[in-house]
Amino acid sequence: MPWNQGAIFLDRDGVINENSADHVKTWEEFRFIPGALDSIRRLTETGLPIFVVTNQAAVNRGLTTVETLNVIHQHMIEAIEIAGGRITQVYFCPHDNHESCACRKPHPGMLEQAARDYGIDLTQSFFVGDAWTDVAAGVAVGARSILIMTGRGRWNFIPAWDRFGLNFNVACDLDDATTMIQEALHGNLMPSTQRMRGAFHRALHPAESLVP
Ligand SMILES: [Mg+2]
Ligand SMILES: [Zn+2]
Repeated sequence: MPWNQGAIFLDRDGVINENSADHVKTWEEFRFIPGALDSIRRLTETGLPIFVVTNQAAVNRGLTTVETLNVIHQHMIEAIEIAGGRITQVYFCPHDNHESCACRKPHPGMLEQAARDYGIDLTQSFFVGDAWTDVAAGVAVGARSILIMTGRGRWNFIPAWDRFGLNFNVACDLDDATTMIQEALHGNLMPSTQRMRGAFHRALHPAESLVP
């Protein structure tokens, strides 16, 4: 088992597959976001293990079962493998809000579990999600969080910004986030950090902006 290795954590709904207002309860309802399979293939080529970490309160709300969820994930993993990618493990939280568990994001319990199971250094890891709760789980363990604008991302930028300021990155979609991760692994500053700093500096300090 390798130690001190980083990993790539992916949220599921809104990152890998399309969100459903009514939850994704069966494999028939599961739709890959365009480009996601190819992005996961590219992420796999980094050599880092990839984990999916997903809140699935639909289980404890009685809308689906652990067995059905496992079937969905088996089909998802097979489709990813056919496309040349690999998922090391899927972690899900079945709990509802009121159960106050340690695994439901924004809590980082699923990331900590993966770290224990596989000897992952979370401070060398990346977490791509479409919700401020994903950003929060990554920030809590010192991982680099990337909020993407697919799924619920557009409505989660301000909530994430309010909580974490510049302590997270933003990308258009999983493909863009993948490029950022590749760059970061080569020691380059994650490009959206520069773009975001510049945009927010100009918004907050218009008098200093060189461009009127
Ligand atoms: Mg999501
Ligand atoms: Zn939980």
